[in-house]
Amino acid sequence: MTKKRNANLEALRESLLARRKELMEWNTAHSEAHKPVQVDQTSMGRLSRMDALQNQAMELELERRRKVELARLDAALQRIEEGEYGYCVACGEKIAKKRLENDPTTPVCINCARDSGQGE
Ligand SMILES: [Zn+2]
Repeated sequence: MTKKRNANLEALRESLLARRKELMEWNTAHSEAHKPVQVDQTSMGRLSRMDALQNQAMELELERRRKVELARLDAALQRIEEGEYGYCVACGEKIAKKRLENDPTTPVCINCARDSGQGE
């Protein structure tokens, strides 16, 4: 069963899929970096130990963000498939075009984003 979609949505879908692929590839490439930092007391100075730990914290934070983004991408793609894209998942209102342009994966309208305290 093929639903007819408009060209804009099709283009958006393509770009979301491309971004998704990028994130997946990044995850694969960096899976080695998930190992805990070996803190070698003898060969590493105190400063480089701190650097290593700081880098690891940054890696973890980036990874967390990528996971969040992936989940949002998947959800947006799902909504495109179901013909629900562009409508707020919370109240069903149409999401402002400008808001979608700013973040194509946003699932809620501005009012609901404010209500849930996520803000802008
Ligand atoms: Zn809403």
